[in-house]
Formats: sequence, C-alpha cells, structure tokens
Amino acid sequence: MGKIHLLSDTLISQIAAGEVVERPASVVKELLENSLDAGANKISIEVEQGGMRFIAVRDNGCGMEREDARLAFTRHATSKISHVDDLRHIRSFGFRGEALSAIASIALVRMKTRSGTSDAGTEIIYEGGKMISEGHVGFSPGTEIMVRNLFFNTPARRKFLKTETTEFSHILSAVSHMALSHPGITFELKHNGKTLLQVPPQMPEERIQTLLGNNFLEESLPVSFQTSSIHIYGFIGKPGMNLSSKRRQYLFINGRDINDTLVSRAACDAYGSRLPGRVYPIFVLHIDMNPAEVDVNVHPRKLSVKFLDSQRIYRDIIQAVSQALEDNGQVGTNRKDERAFPKERGTFFQAAMEFTKQFMESTKSSEGLLQNEIHILSQIADSYILLQETRGLAIIDQHAAHERILYEEFRNYAAQREQGCQPLLVPLTVECSREEGLFLREALPDLEHMGFEFDEWSGNTFIIRSCPANLKTENFQKIFLDFLNDMAEERKKEKILPEKILKSMACKAAVKFGMPLSHQEQEQLLRRLEKTANNTTCPHGRPTRLTVTFEELERRFYRKK
Ligand code: ADP
Ligand code: MG
Repeated sequence: MGKIHLLSDTLISQIAAGEVVERPASVVKELLENSLDAGANKISIEVEQGGMRFIAVRDNGCGMEREDARLAFTRHATSKISHVDDLRHIRSFGFRGEALSAIASIALVRMKTRSGTSDAGTEIIYEGGKMISEGHVGFSPGTEIMVRNLFFNTPARRKFLKTETTEFSHILSAVSHMALSHPGITFELKHNGKTLLQVPPQMPEERIQTLLGNNFLEESLPVSFQTSSIHIYGFIGKPGMNLSSKRRQYLFINGRDINDTLVSRAACDAYGSRLPGRVYPIFVLHIDMNPAEVDVNVHPRKLSVKFLDSQRIYRDIIQAVSQALEDNGQVGTNRKDERAFPKERGTFFQAAMEFTKQFMESTKSSEGLLQNEIHILSQIADSYILLQETRGLAIIDQHAAHERILYEEFRNYAAQREQGCQPLLVPLTVECSREEGLFLREALPDLEHMGFEFDEWSGNTFIIRSCPANLKTENFQKIFLDFLNDMAEERKKEKILPEKILKSMACKAAVKFGMPLSHQEQEQLLRRLEKTANNTTCPHGRPTRLTVTFEELERRFYRKK
C-alpha cells in the first residue's frame, strides 16, 4: 500500500477550522460578520459558559432559500465572490466560504433560516461535519445559527480554552468592536441568561459613549481627513490620554475590525513629543479606502490586512492625526467644529454630526485654557497653580506648562530666526570642557536657528552675543551652563538631534518646582500657555494640567452615585 492518501472532507474542514476558529469568540465574530453581510439591522447573541457550551446568533437579514442553506455548509461555498478578480473589490466581511463548514465540523450546529420571499423556513442540523437532518420549520425571515459543544471532537483544541470568564471577555470584545463600527445596528448580548449589552440604533458618537464610557469623547479630538483616495475619521485621545496598552485602540478599515501595527504606529508617531515613551494613545479610527488597495485575504481570521502602498497610508495617518492634534492646540480655530464622521452617509450621519456639534458646543465653553477670564485660586507648594473653571478645579504643573511654552517658542524661533535674536547687554564668555566644546561646534547651526549668536574666542572659549528673546533673564548664564552640561553628557550616549536641544533648553529655562510665582507671573504663564500649541502636555509628554470636575467631586462626596 502506498503511503500517500487523500484526507477526508471532514478532516480537511477540521484543519481549516483550526485556523478560522481559535476560540468561541472567533465563532461569534464569523457569525456576526455573516449577519452583517446579510443586511441585518438587528442581531442578538446568546452564549453560555463563555461560548464553550452554547452560542446562538440570530439576525433579521436576508435569510436563505432551502438550496442555499444546504450549500452554505460546504467548504468554499460563498455567495460573496465568484471570480478571482472579485477579491480585489471585496466590500463584504466574508468571502472565503470557510466559516460555516469549519464550525460545523467541530461542533453541533443547528441553522434555521428563511428568506423574505419563501413561505417556510429551513432547518439544517450538522454534527462533526455531517448533516444529520434537514427539514421545514416555522420561522420569521432571517437566520439563526446555534453552535453547541464547540471542539467536542477535537479535544486537543478544547484543552487550549481558558476559563469561562476569559472566553467570555473575548466574546464581549468581539461584539463591542462590531457594535462600535456599526452604530446603526441593534445588538443584544446575553451570557448565561443575563443581558450584558443592549444597544438600540445610535449615532456614531452616542455608540462610542455607550460602549467606551462618557469620558472617551470628552478626552478625545475629532479626526477628519480626506483625499481623493482615502477617508480617515473618528476620534483620538487628547495628549495625556494614554494607556500602557493598546486596549483602547479601535481601528476599522472599510468597517472591518483590524489589528494593524502600521496604523497603530503611525498614530503613535503622529503624537511625537506629546506622548511619553511606552504608552499608547486611545482612538477610534475609521479608514475608508478603495478595497483594491488593501488586501484583506492575508489572514484566515481576517484580523490583519496588507496595504498596497503602506508608506502612503502611514503618511496619511500621520497627517490626519497631527492635524487633529494641532487644531486642538491652537486658540481660535474653528476646526473643532468639523465633524469627525462623514456627511455623505445620509441622514443618519447628518444627525450624528448635529449630535457632535451640540456635544462640542457644550464642552467648549468649559475648557478652562480657552477662557478669557482666568480665575486663579492659588499657587500651592510653590509648584502648582490652582484654577477655578466652569467645569471644576484645574491644577497646572508650572514646570511642565512653562516647558511646553518655551519649547514651542523655540521651535518658532527656529522657523523665523531673524526676529528671535536679542543681543545680550554684556556678552557671556563660556569656558567649555572638551565635550561641551565638541557639542557646541556640532550644534552651532541649530543654536543659531534658535536665535543664539556665538563667537569662538579660542580653543574651548566661546562668547555668546545674542540669545532667543524669551531666554533673557538674570539667570541666563546658569541656564545656559546647565544646558551645556546636560548636552555634553547626552552626547556621550547618542547623537544629539535638534529636537533634543529644544527640549533640554526648554527644561533648563522653565520655572522650577518649588519656585514661588507672583500672582502676575502665574497669570502671565497661564495666558502664554493658552496661546501655545500642544498645550496639554509638556515636551516629554507629561500632562500640563489635571481637572477635577464638579461631577467627580459630587461622586466622591457621595452626593451623586
Ligand atoms: P463567507 O461568509 O465567507 O461567504 P461562510 O461560511 O461564513 O462564508 O458562509 C457561507 C454562505 O452562507 C455565505 O456566503 C452566505 O451566502 C450564507 N450565509 C451565512 N450566514 C448567513 C446569514 N446569517 N444570513 C444569510 N446568509 C448567510
Ligand atoms: Mg462568513
């Protein structure tokens, strides 16, 4: 007997199932995708024991005729593509025709379905890849698929399942992602008989609030970026709203929930100095683009994609996110009023825009740093400035705030150097160490850009004739020597980039913690901060301010639940 034989269809499906179905949540995701592809606007999900025992997904979509219902369980049976070229234009979630056959090969599956035009429904039951019954059933238009005892015939895979709680948390996450990207659709999720999620059709922003909590929008900025080939929209967290994990990054490409490192990195990179190291911004981002430019057929569970021109996507995202961040940093721009969600999606989205507009108006007036009246309460610990605002109490970190102001001012000087130059009354002579001298020579062009003017006297002696205007203080000498020392140390470790020079200079020149400020100085600082771009964080990404809202106070004093 030869050694080679053909695998049975069931075994082939079970192998495919290993790729498609990692855990109960994968089944939920596939079934939800089918319901959405079927045009449903109402989907209910019921699971027991984290989906390991039972999963049911019921929808009011187009349903299936008897013949199609039968075919649906065969491998590579799909109504969504028929030609290889179709692969380049996929707008549906499914297209591989694998999910149902894979699930049916590793569980007990009962499907009830009825198309809008047929008089009766069809019921089909599969077990371990074999059809065990088919017949008529009374059923309203739509489809219901029940999956029992997942992995019952693949014990090795069953062993890899985690606890009920863990498996359910994956299901909850899958449903939430779907619900987030399809705000117009009603979703209901029950676990062990308890309703855990129930959302009616909502506006996109409302859905975000329901699923991600009230604070998400308040702490986010709208993104809206469009070119002829791509539309990027949604919300990104204000600088300072970061997490140590990517847990709150929701990315949807053409409505598909995608985990893409390129996009996530681009979003991070766009924050630049506004983000401290090793944290991730929160976001809900939608990317709508020509399906021909993004390949979704690179992962069996369709979790990742491949972009035709990934560099362009990277650049577009950087631009979209930077724009949103910059708009926030500038006083007096109206950009904020631009809606994050697109207009062209008809009345539903228009209503959504209206909602955002009202939401933004109601929050705008309460943004302390944009108010004309600054109501300073006090400076405490010679380090923080307390402010009363309409929303509550704001606490400003004086060093972080001043650092950001100086940093942005230096950056501007760098841009318009001539005006930035202020002659020193008495030129400052600096005796440098060898390292300091090396740094100064290398950094000369960058420092001159900022508004410095130097004469090299001899060897390691330099004379500073002018400095940036905002550095003219009696402490100038100390600030400059500290800076020089810092840079010489850094230079031993790595090449000094212009960015680093700006940051270090801002840090050395900023008011320190523990430095008492007069009322006038406090007010001046806040007014300058108000006019500064990116004013919510210092150049190292730490927040410049914290707000304790009255709402929070009421909650914490138990006046409100
Ligand atoms: P795919 O989604 O990749 O086409 P599936 O195995 O998930 O493959 O589904 C096979 C086919 O069964 C689909 O193409 C669709 O025609 C049909 N189908 C599955 N679920 C539903 C549903 N909930 N409503 C209507 N048709 C469905
Ligand atoms: Mg499918």
